[in-house]
Order: sequence, then C-alpha cells, then structure tokens
Amino acid sequence: MQKIAIVGGGLAGAAVAMQLIKQASKPLSLVIFDQSGQFGRGLAYQPRQVAHLLNVAAGKMSLDPALPEDFLQWLQQQPQFAGDERALLAQAYLPRAVFGDYVAQRWQEALALAAQKGLQVSLRPVTVTALDLTDRNAPRLQSEGVWQNYQQLVLACGNEFPRHPTGFAALCDHPAYVHNPWSDAWLKKLKPDSQVVILGNGLTMVDTLLSLRAAGLKTPVLSVSPHGYGMLPHRHPGLQLNQFSQLLPQQASLRQLLRLFNRARHQVRRLGVSAEPLIDALRPHTQRYWQQFSGAEKALFMRRLRHLWGVARHRVPLHLHDQLQQQRLHGLLEVHAGRVLSVSAAGEQLVLQINSRMHRDMPVHEFDYKADLVLNCTGPEQDYRNLPGHLLQQAIATGTLAAGPLGLGLAADVASLRVKDAEGVVQPTVFAIGSLLRGELWESTALHEIRQQAQQIAAGILAH
Ligand SMILES: Cc1cc2nc3c(=O)[nH]c(=O)nc-3n(C[C@H](O)[C@H](O)[C@H](O)COP(=O)(O)OP(=O)(O)OC[C@H]3O[C@@H](n4cnc5c(N)ncnc54)[C@H](O)[C@@H]3O)c2cc1C
Repeated sequence: MQKIAIVGGGLAGAAVAMQLIKQASKPLSLVIFDQSGQFGRGLAYQPRQVAHLLNVAAGKMSLDPALPEDFLQWLQQQPQFAGDERALLAQAYLPRAVFGDYVAQRWQEALALAAQKGLQVSLRPVTVTALDLTDRNAPRLQSEGVWQNYQQLVLACGNEFPRHPTGFAALCDHPAYVHNPWSDAWLKKLKPDSQVVILGNGLTMVDTLLSLRAAGLKTPVLSVSPHGYGMLPHRHPGLQLNQFSQLLPQQASLRQLLRLFNRARHQVRRLGVSAEPLIDALRPHTQRYWQQFSGAEKALFMRRLRHLWGVARHRVPLHLHDQLQQQRLHGLLEVHAGRVLSVSAAGEQLVLQINSRMHRDMPVHEFDYKADLVLNCTGPEQDYRNLPGHLLQQAIATGTLAAGPLGLGLAADVASLRVKDAEGVVQPTVFAIGSLLRGELWESTALHEIRQQAQQIAAGILAH
C-alpha cells in the first residue's frame, strides 16, 4: 500500500488530499499533519471570518479544476442563497467563512468517499518537527519525537506569521504588539477609544480594520507602509482586453513588458478605463514571465514594482472600497506613506516615532504616536530562512532542501512541483504546493493556483 504524508492541513493540504482520494484506484494510506488541529479551512477561511470577504468572485472559487461551477452549485443549495440569481452569485464577493463551509463539506464528502474506497486517511493534530531525506526513496518525518517513513511527501505548510519589523527591541515582546493579525485573541484588549496602528496597507490591513470597527472601535486608525498606496476596487468585472492579450509575447524581458503595459495603460486611460483589466490579462502569463526573468530582473521587480503590482493585483470588492474611502474621508483611517523610526514602551502602550506623509504632494513630517495596539499586517513571511526552528528552515540549513529564488519559499522543479536540494537535485518523492512555490512561480498563493497544483501533485504521486 502506498504510504503518503501531507504536512499542513489547510486549504492546500486538503485540496491535495481530496484529489488523491478522488483519483486513487488502488489502496493507499494517507496521513495529514496539522499543528493547528484543524483540517480543511486553514488560516483564511475560519467560521469567524464572516466580515472578511473573498477577494475573488464566487464564480471563480471552485475547489476542483475539473468542476469549475462546483462552488456556485453548492451555493445555490444553501438556504441563504437559494433565491439569488446565478449570474449575480457568480460576481459576488462572499464572506470567507461561507467558502470555508463549502470546503468543510467537500472535505467530509471526500473522507466518506475514502472510507467507501477502502483508503486509509488519518488526521494528526501535531507539528512535524524535522524532515530526513537521506534515503531519497524513503523520506522520513519526525513528530512528537518519533520518526516515520513514507513513500511520498507533500509540503503544504502555507502562511507564516509576518516578519517582525527589524531593529525595535521594545516592540516584539510588548503586550500591545500583535504578531498574528489573523487570530482574534487581540480583540479582547480593544476598547472603543483604543489608539491603534496597523503596520501594512494591504488586504490584511483591510480585514483588520473591519474587525476593529465590528468590535466597536470609534477612534481613527493609522496605517503605516512604505508607499501608502491606496487600495483599488474591482472595477470593470469581466472586461477582457483581447487585443492586449494577443500582444503579449511568449518570451519577454521585464523592460519589454513594462513598455507594453505602459503603452496599453495610456490607451485604456484615454477611454476612461483603469489599468486593472491589463493586470488581469497578464495573469495567465505571470508564472511564465517570472520564470524567464533573470535574477537581476526578479530583484528589480521586488525592489521597484512589487508593491505597485500587489495593489493592482489584490483588489477589494467595490462596496468594501467605498467603506474604506468613507473612513478616510471622515478621518477614521489615516494612510501614512513612511516608516516607523523608533519604538519605545510606555507602560501598557507603545510610543512610535513615525516619519511619513499622507499624500504625495504633502511634505514629510515626523511625529510620535502613543498606541494601545500595534498590529503587524505586513503579510506572511515568505523566507523560511528567517524562521528559526521551523521544519523548512532546518531542512534548508542542512542542504536537504534549498530556498527558492530571492529566498522566497523553496527551490523546486516547476514542471513536476517536486522540491530540490542544495545541489539543485530534484527530490523524487517530495512535492511542494502554494506559497512554498512563490519564488519559483511568483503567482502561487490563490485558490486558482492551489487547485491546479493539487490536481497535478495527486496525479504525480499516484503515477509513482
Ligand atoms: C487572509 C487571507 C485571505 C485570502 N483570501 C483569498 C481569497 O479570497 N481567494 C483566494 O483565491 N485566495 C485567498 N487567499 C490565498 C489562499 O487561498 C490562502 O493563502 C490559502 O489559505 C492557502 O492555503 P494553505 O493550505 O497553503 O495555507 P494555510 O491556510 O496557512 O494552511 C497551512 C497549514 O499548515 C499547518 N502547518 C504548517 N507547518 C506545519 C508543521 N510543521 N506541522 C504541522 N502543520 C503545519 C498550519 O497549521 C496550517 O494550518 C487568502 C490568504 C490569506 C492569508
């Protein structure tokens, strides 16, 4: 019997497990490890995430690439959406908790199918602490001090907490500092008049702001990020720029792409359309272009364009964008482009010295701000070398695995999704999925990529 282990039982781990169960025609034993003790939903789709919305329309959120309408069909079977028109549902940005319910149901159905097929599936709510690939054909995992052999492994460790801002000794251990913005534990400390600073200005900032307002916060919230770019809404849904798509070459340098993009941007602007449909047109090609870029081009992109790309790519639903604009207009959300210069503790509060400007045309100014809560919303850490004690940090340090380009995620063979060791040799029995492939593929975090990769990894494992 084929013995397979998946490290991580979030959305990606569950997607691989579901594909394995669906595709398996022979007995197999599947062990799924998840240290959170939860399987299927992962970080982003917990039941408490009712106020937090999907940033992808429901019509594009099927778990199975072979059944693109699956989420829509499931929605129509739910009492709260039974009367809604299908086309409307397909365009809707629904609560992430609803998507989590869908995953949870498909997960239960998959477990029932596994039982019917006689497949062994066991869920282990523990941390995998070490990985040993000395025998390439018999990878080993350690958990609770015990080593176990498998034939195939899938690394689906997903999202890590954000990186601590460097150089601020007073910050990290202070009770006012929140390292994990996705947990709700910090909301208990909140009072209606708390002074709150959010480090970061992306989708996690938006989620956090919604949680703060839902919990009754009445005071202005400061968001501090290097550029302070405004969030963009989803405008022009469904607009496909075929002419621009046809101009996109098979191979291109970063410079060529920028030239093409800027020319097209002026054309669409002339007709009153914003540049986001151009970004959508680039999306199917992004992984290919990223792989073609030289190391210097990737580094240049990260240095100069990453934040702009992030804003244009990761947009918010229109009505949420309106809410953000209202808060800005009423002084309840201050978006600062700048940085924190120093942090000092003042009893239960933290004093942040901030150097920023609130608009491109405004002068830079420096000020001190006393905060009851400082939330780190700078996005998940993607360089495992910065995570002491992490399974993948150890594996990279010993050369068993290697960090991906620019230190992002893991080095991998993108054709088979198998990881590489420090010598660049492909490990024949170990796969990686989702954000672990960020350095190799750049676009590798959304469901769109995860479901394709899950299907491919399951087929690769079963063909072994
Ligand atoms: C807040 C947020 C919102 C998002 N919204 C959308 C969206 O609307 N649409 C979209 O397409 N995508 C969205 N994404 C992107 C993507 O769908 C998610 O990142 C998705 O949750 C990734 O799933 P995952 O399983 O890779 O990671 P996670 O959900 O982070 O799961 C990884 C799991 O691995 C476990 N784990 C890690 N290491 C170990 C170990 N050593 N031993 C045991 N267990 C371990 C963790 O406990 C965790 O449960 C969102 C992402 C985030 C963070």
